[in-house]
Amino acid sequence: MSPKNSRSRLPSWLKNKDPLQKGMITTKNLLQGLKLNTVCQEARCPNIGECFARKTATFMILGEKCPRNCRFCAVTSGEPSPVDPREPDRIVEAVSRLKLRHVVITSVTRDDLPDGGSRQFVRVIEKLRSYDPDLKIEILTPDFQQDSRALDRIIAARPDIFNHNIETVPRLYSRVRPEACYQGSLKVLERVARNPANIITKSGLMLGLGENRKEVIEVFRDLQKINCDMLTIGQYLQPARSNLPVQEYIKPETFQQYKEKALEIGFKAVASGPHVRSSYLAEEISQEILFQGES
Ligand code: SF4
Repeated sequence: MSPKNSRSRLPSWLKNKDPLQKGMITTKNLLQGLKLNTVCQEARCPNIGECFARKTATFMILGEKCPRNCRFCAVTSGEPSPVDPREPDRIVEAVSRLKLRHVVITSVTRDDLPDGGSRQFVRVIEKLRSYDPDLKIEILTPDFQQDSRALDRIIAARPDIFNHNIETVPRLYSRVRPEACYQGSLKVLERVARNPANIITKSGLMLGLGENRKEVIEVFRDLQKINCDMLTIGQYLQPARSNLPVQEYIKPETFQQYKEKALEIGFKAVASGPHVRSSYLAEEISQEILFQGES
């Protein structure tokens, strides 16, 4: 598939997402009323109609502006806002009203804070645990500049799933994630994977940025070497003109082949497809692992 940026030139398999689904507005209003940010809205996720209609969302804590400026990401770059001590309570309120059993929390990158924002993640996890000890908590974090104290703080709070996206192949980091480091992201995941608390580790890759098959499989192997449990693989879509253009639209059958390869290499669960995002169907995809040994 040749590279095209325009939505009107999307291949057929990417055109069938209906952004306006019944029930979407109710979720949107609820989140707006509680003054909560979601990555679904801030990153202009193409699945928002489906996810909001199903009353799921990925909460984005620590403000809506990110001091980093990754070229693939639609979250607004700029001066971040002060940490809001009441944000964890409002997330609990939203989880209660949406009747969530599995919650995904992410954040903007907070390189400006001495703790990288890790304490706010911990506060949210603790509030959610005291609201419902059976709630499954998945966090999708930045790299905390590989600060081991920030990571250990989060490990001690024991989320069920720790997700940190590797995003792309190492060759493309300088273009796609110039302020991040491939080996650094692997180290973040490795530190959590080595934890004695049995936290499930998860990572994600976007395809269509100019990577090749050999490089993608090398990333699978690197993640497996550090015992990453779960993997998501999705199509990169250019969220705005200022973001990187799409180099290639990967066919659904190729995503299926990558899934089979990743499972063969050793991942316990893999979601791979044009519409997959790191939090897409997070509850469904994680259930196989989370409930192992409970039946
Ligand atoms: S896939 Fe994730 S980010 Fe996108 S709308 Fe669904 S929950 Fe939000």
